[in-house]
Amino acid sequence: METDDKEFNKNPYFELFQKQRIKQLGIGQHSYSHRIKQLSKLKTAIEKTYRKRILEALYKDLGKPKVESELTEIYQIIGEIKHAKAHLHKWMRRQKVKTPLSMLGASSYYVYEPKGVCLIISPWNFPFNLTFGPLVSAIAAGNSAIIKPSEMTPSSSALMAEIVREVFKEDEVTLVEGEVETSTQLLQLPFNHIFFTGSPNVGKIVMTAAAKHLTSVTLELGGKSPTIIDKTASVDKAAKKIVWGKFMNAGQICVTPDYILIDKSIKDKFIEACKKWLDYFYSEQPQNSDSYSRIVTQKHFERLKAHLDNAKDTNAKIEIGGQLDAESKYIAPTIISDLKEDALLLQHEIFGPILPIVTYKDLGEAIDCINSKERPLALYIYSKSRTNTKRILNHTKAGGTCINNNVVHYSNHNLPFGGVNHSGIGKSHGFYGFKAFSNQRAIVKQYVFGVAELLFPPYNRFKEKMARLTIKWF
Ligand code: NAD
Repeated sequence: METDDKEFNKNPYFELFQKQRIKQLGIGQHSYSHRIKQLSKLKTAIEKTYRKRILEALYKDLGKPKVESELTEIYQIIGEIKHAKAHLHKWMRRQKVKTPLSMLGASSYYVYEPKGVCLIISPWNFPFNLTFGPLVSAIAAGNSAIIKPSEMTPSSSALMAEIVREVFKEDEVTLVEGEVETSTQLLQLPFNHIFFTGSPNVGKIVMTAAAKHLTSVTLELGGKSPTIIDKTASVDKAAKKIVWGKFMNAGQICVTPDYILIDKSIKDKFIEACKKWLDYFYSEQPQNSDSYSRIVTQKHFERLKAHLDNAKDTNAKIEIGGQLDAESKYIAPTIISDLKEDALLLQHEIFGPILPIVTYKDLGEAIDCINSKERPLALYIYSKSRTNTKRILNHTKAGGTCINNNVVHYSNHNLPFGGVNHSGIGKSHGFYGFKAFSNQRAIVKQYVFGVAELLFPPYNRFKEKMARLTIKWF
């Protein structure tokens, strides 16, 4: 056994964990064809068997419009599976590397081997996408996995449990439903990798638990993602994209624009353009629009209401929206300006349909504002100026950036997705997800006598000279 397991005997999930560990150790690792078969089965289940019920569950949990669910949940997972299936053969191939002359007589390569038994903990805002997305990478890399989805979206979690039961054997992939206590118990086990998506605060709890077993982690976290609009930007085009990226899923998106930093001279024009696009997307009565989502729980509704009240108390200006309905957990698309620096809306990740606007006179002020906060998951730039764009890119750090767009970098499987420091550790999607769930095992194969043997002890003057020559020439 890898660890002293006695301490886990009372853990309700140890038996399950042990089953997966024994299976992993027994088979060595899943073959290419087994991984492809697992991915195909998951694809069929999501795309065909369960598609309708997935859309229903998302509507029940989040009031998510059908088209949005298709695009932001089903399409994303299917895309991830197709990408993995198309590239897995190449990813699994041994990767030859050069061998230095000083190691003459040997060849070197590395292989991606599965880490083993992995834990995936997911959030509620895109329940299917953010649970099955990492699972695709875990399977592609040949691991087994225990999944703990969010308790906030019970219909989606129950349906995912059903899908996992149908598609996988228990000793390969299992989904455990439950609240925080369930996560806490799972986190006590000596997993080989933990993939966590959620808030930075819980990310710290996960990393602390992982440290006990020196378990590697991927942390996909959140935070405040800024958007800069400089005076050269096409205001109308920027407004259209921002209104789409901010109010989709009622702003409950990790990479949504959290706040706007805009050149003072174009603020009014931008707000006017936002109003136009909001009316176009959701009508003048977004509450009656089939295209607009709801806040996930009463608790999150109250949190957002408190942030809005805090802004109103300090005379911030509601430019658009501001209406709330507690019973249906509705918050209108809201744009707000003139906030005090210490306003809650400017201090904490908003994760809802409220967009603060902060003006600047000089681009340097916007850059300083970003750098005074934690490093963001995403940073968006709207500008026609190459110089300004380059200046912003060079003087800030972020997990990802779109120039003259927002959110869409998430959908390109060829790009690494993830944050930096407070907004995340490690990357996901496509090859980067496969890599996160793999150990890069370095292998040196000695096939003839190695010249390095000439330098083995006992040492003498000649070997000393040879060592110096090696340093100089090889
Ligand atoms: P959360 O951190 O509250 O919960 C995430 C998961 O952790 C849930 O399954 C939950 O049950 C579990 N959990 C909660 N508290 C825990 C604790 N004390 N100990 C152990 N486990 C615990 O996050 P959330 O509210 O579900 O999601 C919103 C956050 O997630 C936002 O910060 C958002 O930016 C971030 N997010 C990030 C990404 C990304 O890809 N980077 C994607 C979606 C959401």
